[in-house]
Amino acid sequence: MEGVTDKRSLKTTFHSSDIIIESPGRINLIGEHLDYNGGQVLPAAINLKVRLNFKKNGTRKCNCYSKNYDNHFEIDLDKVEVSEKEWHNYFLGVVHFIEQAHPNKIKGFDCIVESDLPIGSGISSSAALECGFAKGLDALFSIGLSDDEVITISRDAEHHFVGTKCGIMDQFAVVRGKKGKLIRLDCNDLSFEYISANIEPYSIVLLNTNVSHNLATSEYNLRRQECDDALKAIQEKYPEHDVLARVPEDIVKEFESKLASKIFNRLLYVVQENARTITASEALENENLKTFGQKMFESHEGLRNLYQVSCEELDFLVDFAQEHEGVIGSRMMGGGFGGCTINLVHKDRMDSFITEAALAYDLKFNIRLSPYTVAIGDGVKRIK
Ligand code: ADP
Ligand code: MG
Repeated sequence: MEGVTDKRSLKTTFHSSDIIIESPGRINLIGEHLDYNGGQVLPAAINLKVRLNFKKNGTRKCNCYSKNYDNHFEIDLDKVEVSEKEWHNYFLGVVHFIEQAHPNKIKGFDCIVESDLPIGSGISSSAALECGFAKGLDALFSIGLSDDEVITISRDAEHHFVGTKCGIMDQFAVVRGKKGKLIRLDCNDLSFEYISANIEPYSIVLLNTNVSHNLATSEYNLRRQECDDALKAIQEKYPEHDVLARVPEDIVKEFESKLASKIFNRLLYVVQENARTITASEALENENLKTFGQKMFESHEGLRNLYQVSCEELDFLVDFAQEHEGVIGSRMMGGGFGGCTINLVHKDRMDSFITEAALAYDLKFNIRLSPYTVAIGDGVKRIK
C-alpha cells in the first residue's frame, strides 16, 4: 500500500517540482586513469544529461525514483546506511555526507531522476547523478554548498557508500564544465584552466560498445592498489616523489628490474600517459590536431597493453577507427572493460564512419553499438 502512495506522490512531484536540476555526463579526451595518480586530464561536460526533479514532502522520509529503472526506494533520514542495492548508495551517500557537513538541513523530499545518459558506459552517469542530487538538495534546503563541496561530497559518496575508489575528475568535470571548453586539470593540486575546444573540422563521436564486463569496479580498485604499490616501492628510495604521474622517466627505468613486471607496466603507463596528455594539450593549443589524435591512439595502446583495462570490443572499435580515413584519433574512455570509445572524426566522414563501424561491430560481435555525437556543454545547473 505504501508503495502505491509513494508512486502517486512521486507523480505529483514530476508535474509540480520546486527545483529542477540538469547534470551532464563527461568526456575525457586524454589522460585516462590519471586522476587518482595525480596526473593531468582533459575532460569536459557534454550535452547528454540526467535531469532531477525535487519537491519537499513535509516528512522525515525521502522518496527517490529512477525513471530509467522504473524503481523507487525510500530513505529514512533517521537511519541513513549503506544499502545492498548499488544505485541507492549514490543517493544515500550524498545525503550522509551533506548531513555530516551541514547537520539537520535536509528534511523529507521526493526526487525523480530521468536520464538520457547511457548508464555504466564510461560517460560518468554516476557523477552526473551524485552531483545533480547534491546540487538539488542544496537548492531545495538552502544549504549553501560550495562547488568544491558538491565535488568532494559526491566523490566521498562514491568511495564510502558505492565502494568505487574513483578519482576526482568525473565530479570536477560535471560541476565545472563550461560550454565549448575543455578543462585542463592537474589532479595533484586541482589547479585547472579552460582551453577552447578548437577541433574544427572534426567532431567528437562516442561509440558505445554496449558491453560492460562486470570487472569494472574490482579491477578499478585493483589498479589503484597496484599504483599505490608502485609508489611505495619508489618512495623507499626516493621519498621526495609522492605523486606517481610525476615520477621522472629515468627513475621509472631504474625500477624495471625491481618491480614485478605487471606493477612496472602500470607505472610506465601512468608516467607515459601523463607526458602524452601534456604534449596533446599543447598540440591542441597550437591547432595541431593530427598530433593530438595520434596521442589518443597511443593512449589506447597503453591502456590495452600496459594498464590492461581494455577489452576486445573496445580494441576492435579503436582498430577500426585507426583504419578509417575520416578518424584522426580514437581510444577507450573511462574506467574500461566496456563502455565507449571516443573518436575525433572529420565532419564530412562522420555518417560513413558511424554506419561502417556499426556494421563491422555487429558482424563481429552480433551486438548493436550506440553512437553519440556530443557537444561540449555547461556543468550541473538549476533550470527551475
Ligand atoms: P558510469 O559512471 O560510467 O556511467 P558507473 O558504473 O560508475 O558507470 O555508474 C553507473 C551506476 O550509477 C549505475 O549502475 C547506477 O547504480 C547509477 N546510476 C546512473 N544513472 C542512474 C539513473 N538514471 N538511475 C539510477 N541509477 C543510476
Ligand atoms: Mg562512474
